[in-house]
Amino acid sequence: MANKFTCTECNFLNCQTRDKEFPRKCLTTDEGNQPVLADSLDAYGNDPQVAQIMLASAQVEGQYYGQLTRVEEIIVFAKKIGAKKIGLASCAGLIRENRIFADILRANGLSVYGVLCKVGGQDKCSVGIADRDKIKPGQYEAMCNPIMQAKLCNQENTDLNVISGLCVGHDSLFMKNSDAPVTYLIVKDRVLAHNPIGALNTGHSYYKRLMDGVKLNEADSALSHNER
Ligand code: SF4
Repeated sequence: MANKFTCTECNFLNCQTRDKEFPRKCLTTDEGNQPVLADSLDAYGNDPQVAQIMLASAQVEGQYYGQLTRVEEIIVFAKKIGAKKIGLASCAGLIRENRIFADILRANGLSVYGVLCKVGGQDKCSVGIADRDKIKPGQYEAMCNPIMQAKLCNQENTDLNVISGLCVGHDSLFMKNSDAPVTYLIVKDRVLAHNPIGALNTGHSYYKRLMDGVKLNEADSALSHNER
Protein backbone atom coordinates (compact mmCIF):
# COMPACT_ATOMS: atom_id res chain seq x y z
CA MET A 1 0.00 0.00 0.00
CA ALA A 2 1.42 3.37 -1.03
CA ASN A 3 2.00 5.72 1.86
CA LYS A 4 0.07 8.95 1.77
CA PHE A 5 2.01 12.19 2.14
CA THR A 6 1.41 13.41 5.67
CA CYS A 7 3.02 15.80 8.13
CA THR A 8 5.78 13.34 8.99
CA GLU A 9 6.99 13.46 5.38
CA CYS A 10 6.81 17.25 5.18
CA ASN A 11 9.96 19.37 5.22
CA PHE A 12 8.12 22.71 5.15
CA LEU A 13 6.37 22.72 8.55
CA ASN A 14 4.82 25.96 7.39
CA CYS A 15 1.84 25.47 9.71
CA GLN A 16 4.32 26.09 12.51
CA THR A 17 6.27 29.00 11.03
CA ARG A 18 3.98 30.59 8.40
CA ASP A 19 7.05 32.04 6.68
CA LYS A 20 7.10 29.93 3.50
CA GLU A 21 4.82 28.02 1.14
CA PHE A 22 2.57 25.18 2.20
CA PRO A 23 3.38 21.94 0.37
CA ARG A 24 1.08 20.80 -2.44
CA LYS A 25 -0.62 18.06 -0.41
CA CYS A 26 -0.61 19.91 2.90
CA LEU A 27 -2.98 18.69 5.59
CA THR A 28 -3.71 22.29 6.58
CA THR A 29 -4.71 23.54 3.13
CA ASP A 30 -6.36 20.36 1.80
CA GLU A 31 -9.91 21.27 0.81
CA GLY A 32 -11.32 18.10 2.36
CA ASN A 33 -9.82 18.92 5.75
CA GLN A 34 -11.46 22.33 6.11
CA PRO A 35 -14.55 21.01 7.97
CA VAL A 36 -12.24 19.26 10.46
CA LEU A 37 -10.29 22.47 10.98
CA ALA A 38 -13.53 24.38 11.52
CA ASP A 39 -14.83 21.75 13.97
CA SER A 40 -11.65 21.84 16.01
CA LEU A 41 -11.71 25.64 16.24
CA ASP A 42 -15.35 25.49 17.20
CA ALA A 43 -14.58 23.07 20.04
CA TYR A 44 -11.77 25.26 21.41
CA GLY A 45 -14.07 28.25 21.34
CA ASN A 46 -17.38 26.78 22.43
CA ASP A 47 -16.92 23.58 24.43
CA PRO A 48 -16.21 24.77 27.99
CA GLN A 49 -14.15 21.74 29.05
CA VAL A 50 -12.12 21.74 25.86
CA ALA A 51 -11.57 25.49 26.10
CA GLN A 52 -10.43 25.19 29.72
CA ILE A 53 -7.95 22.41 28.93
CA MET A 54 -6.67 24.24 25.87
CA LEU A 55 -6.13 27.46 27.78
CA ALA A 56 -4.48 25.72 30.74
CA SER A 57 -2.08 23.73 28.58
CA ALA A 58 -1.18 26.85 26.58
CA GLN A 59 -0.47 28.70 29.81
CA VAL A 60 1.65 25.87 31.22
CA GLU A 61 3.68 25.96 28.02
CA GLY A 62 3.80 29.74 27.66
CA GLN A 63 4.38 30.73 31.27
CA TYR A 64 6.77 27.98 32.31
CA TYR A 65 8.48 26.99 29.06
CA GLY A 66 11.53 24.88 29.84
CA GLN A 67 11.34 25.63 33.55
CA LEU A 68 9.19 22.88 35.00
CA THR A 69 9.58 19.13 35.14
CA ARG A 70 6.67 17.02 33.96
CA VAL A 71 5.74 16.38 37.59
CA GLU A 72 5.47 20.11 38.18
CA GLU A 73 3.67 20.73 34.92
CA ILE A 74 0.99 18.21 35.88
CA ILE A 75 0.44 19.99 39.19
CA VAL A 76 0.21 23.42 37.57
CA PHE A 77 -2.06 22.07 34.84
CA ALA A 78 -4.32 20.37 37.41
CA LYS A 79 -4.65 23.61 39.35
CA LYS A 80 -5.39 25.64 36.26
CA ILE A 81 -8.27 23.37 35.27
CA GLY A 82 -9.58 23.42 38.84
CA ALA A 83 -8.87 19.73 39.46
CA LYS A 84 -9.00 18.72 43.10
CA LYS A 85 -8.90 14.92 42.90
CA ILE A 86 -6.29 13.14 40.78
CA GLY A 87 -6.78 9.56 39.64
CA LEU A 88 -3.42 7.86 39.51
CA ALA A 89 -3.35 4.80 37.26
CA SER A 90 -0.20 3.17 38.46
CA CYS A 91 1.90 0.32 37.15
CA ALA A 92 2.77 -2.23 39.85
CA GLY A 93 6.42 -2.12 38.80
CA LEU A 94 6.55 1.62 39.46
CA ILE A 95 4.59 1.74 42.70
CA ARG A 96 7.59 3.10 44.61
CA GLU A 97 7.92 6.06 42.26
CA ASN A 98 4.17 6.55 42.16
CA ARG A 99 3.97 6.72 45.94
CA ILE A 100 6.46 9.56 45.81
CA PHE A 101 4.40 11.24 43.09
CA ALA A 102 1.24 10.84 45.20
CA ASP A 103 3.03 12.44 48.19
CA ILE A 104 4.08 15.34 45.97
CA LEU A 105 0.52 15.82 44.73
CA ARG A 106 -0.79 15.83 48.30
CA ALA A 107 1.93 18.25 49.39
CA ASN A 108 0.56 20.54 46.69
CA GLY A 109 -2.98 20.43 47.98
CA LEU A 110 -4.38 17.80 45.61
CA SER A 111 -6.09 14.62 46.70
CA VAL A 112 -5.08 11.33 45.12
CA TYR A 113 -7.05 8.23 44.25
CA GLY A 114 -4.47 5.65 43.21
CA VAL A 115 -5.38 2.42 41.44
CA LEU A 116 -2.81 -0.25 40.72
CA CYS A 117 -2.82 -2.00 37.35
CA LYS A 118 -3.33 -5.38 39.03
CA VAL A 119 -6.52 -4.27 40.79
CA GLY A 120 -9.15 -7.02 40.83
CA GLY A 121 -6.48 -9.67 41.32
CA GLN A 122 -7.37 -11.95 38.43
CA ASP A 123 -5.13 -14.49 36.79
CA LYS A 124 -4.37 -13.71 33.14
CA CYS A 125 -6.03 -17.00 32.08
CA SER A 126 -9.36 -15.77 33.48
CA VAL A 127 -9.82 -13.53 30.42
CA GLY A 128 -8.67 -16.06 27.85
CA ILE A 129 -4.97 -15.25 27.82
CA ALA A 130 -3.10 -18.49 27.18
CA ASP A 131 -0.86 -19.79 29.93
CA ARG A 132 1.99 -19.91 27.36
CA ASP A 133 1.66 -16.14 26.94
CA LYS A 134 2.50 -15.46 30.58
CA ILE A 135 5.93 -14.14 31.48
CA LYS A 136 6.30 -17.25 33.67
CA PRO A 137 3.87 -19.94 32.47
CA GLY A 138 2.43 -22.47 34.89
CA GLN A 139 1.69 -20.18 37.80
CA TYR A 140 -0.65 -17.39 38.92
CA GLU A 141 0.15 -14.22 37.05
CA ALA A 142 -2.06 -11.23 37.73
CA MET A 143 -3.53 -9.56 34.70
CA CYS A 144 -3.58 -5.80 34.33
CA ASN A 145 -7.10 -4.42 34.55
CA PRO A 146 -7.07 -0.96 32.95
CA ILE A 147 -10.85 -0.90 32.51
CA MET A 148 -11.36 -1.40 36.23
CA GLN A 149 -8.68 1.22 36.92
CA ALA A 150 -10.56 3.74 34.78
CA LYS A 151 -14.00 2.84 36.09
CA LEU A 152 -12.92 3.11 39.72
CA CYS A 153 -11.56 6.56 38.94
CA ASN A 154 -14.89 7.38 37.28
CA GLN A 155 -16.75 6.12 40.35
CA GLU A 156 -14.63 8.43 42.50
CA ASN A 157 -15.33 11.38 40.20
CA THR A 158 -11.68 12.15 39.72
CA ASP A 159 -11.08 15.45 37.92
CA LEU A 160 -7.91 14.45 36.08
CA ASN A 161 -6.38 11.01 35.59
CA VAL A 162 -2.66 10.44 35.30
CA ILE A 163 -1.26 7.34 33.66
CA SER A 164 1.99 6.36 35.24
CA GLY A 165 3.74 3.44 33.60
CA LEU A 166 0.85 1.43 32.17
CA CYS A 167 1.75 -1.09 29.46
CA VAL A 168 1.26 -0.37 25.77
CA GLY A 169 -2.37 -1.22 25.04
CA HIS A 170 -3.46 -1.25 28.67
CA ASP A 171 -2.98 2.50 28.50
CA SER A 172 -5.22 2.53 25.41
CA LEU A 173 -7.99 0.79 27.32
CA PHE A 174 -7.57 3.09 30.29
CA MET A 175 -7.90 6.19 28.10
CA LYS A 176 -10.87 4.72 26.26
CA ASN A 177 -12.72 4.13 29.54
CA SER A 178 -11.77 7.21 31.51
CA ASP A 179 -14.42 9.87 32.06
CA ALA A 180 -11.91 12.45 33.22
CA PRO A 181 -9.25 13.87 30.92
CA VAL A 182 -6.06 11.83 30.94
CA THR A 183 -2.45 12.91 30.92
CA TYR A 184 0.77 10.93 31.18
CA LEU A 185 3.51 10.97 33.78
CA ILE A 186 5.62 7.92 32.88
CA VAL A 187 5.56 6.21 29.49
CA LYS A 188 6.58 2.60 30.04
CA ASP A 189 9.70 1.35 28.29
CA ARG A 190 11.09 -1.57 30.23
CA VAL A 191 14.33 -1.62 28.25
CA LEU A 192 15.15 2.09 28.14
CA ALA A 193 14.29 3.05 31.74
CA HIS A 194 10.97 4.53 30.55
CA ASN A 195 12.65 6.78 28.05
CA PRO A 196 11.34 5.54 24.68
CA ILE A 197 12.96 8.37 22.77
CA GLY A 198 16.29 6.68 23.47
CA ALA A 199 15.60 4.22 20.65
CA LEU A 200 15.04 7.14 18.28
CA ASN A 201 18.00 9.19 19.44
CA THR A 202 20.19 6.23 18.62
CA GLY A 203 18.10 5.12 15.65
CA HIS A 204 21.01 5.84 13.30
CA SER A 205 23.39 3.67 15.33
CA TYR A 206 22.63 1.20 18.13
CA TYR A 207 18.97 0.92 17.27
CA LYS A 208 19.43 0.95 13.50
CA ARG A 209 18.14 -2.62 13.48
CA LEU A 210 14.61 -1.29 14.05
CA MET A 211 14.63 -0.15 10.42
CA ASP A 212 14.94 -3.78 9.34
CA GLY A 213 11.52 -4.47 10.87
CA VAL A 214 10.71 -5.45 14.41
CA LYS A 215 10.99 -9.20 14.68
CA LEU A 216 7.68 -10.80 15.64
CA ASN A 217 7.56 -14.26 17.12
CA GLU A 218 5.20 -17.05 16.11
CA ALA A 219 2.68 -16.20 18.79
CA ASP A 220 2.15 -12.77 17.22
CA SER A 221 1.35 -14.27 13.82
CA ALA A 222 -1.11 -16.66 15.47
CA LEU A 223 -2.90 -13.77 17.21
CA SER A 224 -3.23 -11.68 14.09
CA HIS A 225 -4.27 -14.50 11.79
CA ASN A 226 -6.19 -17.01 13.88
CA GLU A 227 -7.10 -16.00 17.39
CA ARG A 228 -8.98 -12.77 16.74
S1 SF4 B 1 0.21 20.77 8.02
FE1 SF4 B 1 1.13 21.09 6.03
S2 SF4 B 1 2.89 22.41 6.42
FE2 SF4 B 1 2.26 21.56 8.35
S3 SF4 B 1 3.58 19.75 8.59
FE3 SF4 B 1 1.62 19.09 7.72
S4 SF4 B 1 1.97 19.07 5.55
FE4 SF4 B 1 3.59 20.30 6.42
